[in-house]
Amino acid sequence: MRILVVEDEEAIARGLRFNFEREGYQVDLAASGPAALELYESAQPPVDLVVLDLMLPEMSGYEICRALRRLDLDIPILALTARTLSEDKIQAFDCGVDQYMTKPFSLPELLSRVRNLLDKRRRQIDRRTVRPTEDVVRFSDVAVDFGRFELRHREEVHPLTTREQELLRYFLENDGVVLSRARLQSEVWKDSADISSRSIDNFVMRLRRMIEDDPSSPRHLLSVRGTGYRFVREPAGDTSTTDTG
Ligand code: CA
Repeated sequence: MRILVVEDEEAIARGLRFNFEREGYQVDLAASGPAALELYESAQPPVDLVVLDLMLPEMSGYEICRALRRLDLDIPILALTARTLSEDKIQAFDCGVDQYMTKPFSLPELLSRVRNLLDKRRRQIDRRTVRPTEDVVRFSDVAVDFGRFELRHREEVHPLTTREQELLRYFLENDGVVLSRARLQSEVWKDSADISSRSIDNFVMRLRRMIEDDPSSPRHLLSVRGTGYRFVREPAGDTSTTDTG
């Protein structure tokens, strides 16, 4: 499991990393909000838990928490902060943190809370990966491994971010259906205000580079003019795979 620690006090950050790694977790450190969000979005495998300081330069922990919630409603967030006032806690919970601990903290208690949140996360992921599609989905020369966040096209292996994987899964579940950008925004991005039509297009472009033999002339991920996209698992005339299921 992977933990992102957002903390600007280096000594604390290093101490947390040391102790989390000793528990067998993979740890990333970020000293500011923008660095944390960038790490979060590009992390491969994805982050499973965020330990978040609230008093940080650039963006406050509250803002970071809201931004994370726009990216993922389920990612566990534990606030670890010197702020002890009740209104700070309320504000943090309103922003979507799952747990709140004040500094100085007891290490055994922190580790126990982390274990608890990660157990929950693991059950969440298990439910997700056995859900509607198989773990590995194949079409043409592509194999998408949803358990490993990985896409293989011929000999090339591409890591997938959580969002790329969700978008691809949605296309696969809606084989042959014309999907408007508005529908993708509401179904894949859950109406996050941050996503523009252009960024949806950029995601599609990235997927095309991974799955198409010739991304400029796609056979699977087709543009539907003025509307959006249509995914075709088995293009007409493609007899290389026969799936009777
Ligand atoms: Ca701080």
